Amino acid sequence: MTRVDVRPSVYLVGAGPGDPGLLTLRAVQCLQRADVVLYDYLVNPATLEHAAPDAELIRLGRPSTGRDLSPDEITARMIEEALRGRVVVRLKGGDPSVFGRGSDETSALRAAGVAFEVVPGVTAGLAVAGYCEIPVTEAGETSAVALVTARERGDKQASSLDYHALADFPGTLVFYMGVTRVAEWSGALLAHGKAPHTPVAVVRWCTRAAQEVVRCTLETVADVVSERELHPPAVFVVGDVAARAPDQSWFTRRPLFGTRVFVPGTPATSRKLRDTLAELGAEVLARPAIRLLEPDDWTAVDAALHRLDLYDWVVFSSANGVDHVLGRLFHLGGDVRRFGGVRLAAMGSGTASALSRFHLNADLVPDEFVAESLARKLAEGAAGGRFLLVRASRGRNVLAEALAAVGGTVDQVVAYRSVDIEDPDPDVEAALSEGTIDWIPVTSAAIARSLGRLYGATLVRTRLASIGPVTSAALRELGYEPAVEAAPHTTAALVDAILDSE
Ligand code: SAH
Repeated sequence: MTRVDVRPSVYLVGAGPGDPGLLTLRAVQCLQRADVVLYDYLVNPATLEHAAPDAELIRLGRPSTGRDLSPDEITARMIEEALRGRVVVRLKGGDPSVFGRGSDETSALRAAGVAFEVVPGVTAGLAVAGYCEIPVTEAGETSAVALVTARERGDKQASSLDYHALADFPGTLVFYMGVTRVAEWSGALLAHGKAPHTPVAVVRWCTRAAQEVVRCTLETVADVVSERELHPPAVFVVGDVAARAPDQSWFTRRPLFGTRVFVPGTPATSRKLRDTLAELGAEVLARPAIRLLEPDDWTAVDAALHRLDLYDWVVFSSANGVDHVLGRLFHLGGDVRRFGGVRLAAMGSGTASALSRFHLNADLVPDEFVAESLARKLAEGAAGGRFLLVRASRGRNVLAEALAAVGGTVDQVVAYRSVDIEDPDPDVEAALSEGTIDWIPVTSAAIARSLGRLYGATLVRTRLASIGPVTSAALRELGYEPAVEAAPHTTAALVDAILDSE
């Protein structure tokens, strides 16, 4: 064993308050390395995107609804997995050490001789400063902040909190787990002399699509919570700074704030869409709907790559095709000079920009990004022309037929296989059946069919945004009418179509 192999087997990781952008770089590294991830119900499932596709993901239940594993069982499970040699990530909301029982778990791990690392996270009570613009400290005015839990171990015993000291605390109080006991803790503060008109901000689902800030006072907070039926999770900011919460923060002012989007696809193709939607303020959950694999056999691609000079045109119908063919070319020791003598056609702007990443310019991109339009363009001088079509295992034949019909010689090679994901993702399934997904952008017919198979009838509970007519037709065939169709058929236009409908 080299010294570098002596790495912890358990990582106790803070996932932050919800926005996946608030994960630390270290949290992402740990997730990428994990064989098994045990995650709390408050953790945004979007953060699990960083886990390997074959990692085992175990969602732990809500404590009040009878969690499937007790805290002791969770610890025992971590130890057992670690002793089997697996890398375990225990992912907790916020910071694992802030009201997260982190020290119970590290003590048990230490006792069992299991090496561990603790990765801090952004705690919910302090995220309010950024995402709700409630400054928890202020130069010269508020010089201290206290994080307080309204619920304590055992919970039934008399509170061990010193409300006298809390009422006198010279700064901001931030209460966690305070919804169900709001009457108790606010009453105790009042009874110990805290001013009734002290400003309070109730912040629910901080950093998530459902973020909500309700301003009130210490005197009214219990009534406000019951009248407005405010449910957990929420933190309560108590102190002068709470009055500073603006009606809208930079976070809620973003155009897609409050919109939840499920982005299906492959990680490579959905990344741009996911990032654009997230920048606009949407809460994005991305999960694969199809998986791309190498072809069973590279013979045809290799042969074509060795004889590229035989062709007039190489036609790429997707960015994935570009990535796979170029990847193979480099693997074989070749470089882009092989494409020196041929012209390149790209089905759409995404395919063209994939080519440009390899410093290749597409000679032809049709006005409309569908096979029919590309076929019309290429057909103009096709008689006697020699075409190499790069496609997916399940691609359409339209282009090959159209070119052959006008006298072109056509070779087709399969550069990658698209295979179906077999099991629906439990987090997506739950969100769809709860009706909490507002949009699904659908970027290919293969993804449309995969969605139909994986999520079936729950798709009627969301809006489908289609990239173009072929995808729309596939959706209609399955019985789902797209709410919008992108024009032109690009991911940028797809995002615009969603923006226009919000
Ligand atoms: N370790 C977590 C706290 C766990 S206790 C942290 O550091 O944030 C659970 C409590 O955290 C909830 O009852 C609620 O008070 C608070 N909480 C967690 N996530 C929240 C969120 N996104 N918005 C508001 N409160 C949140």
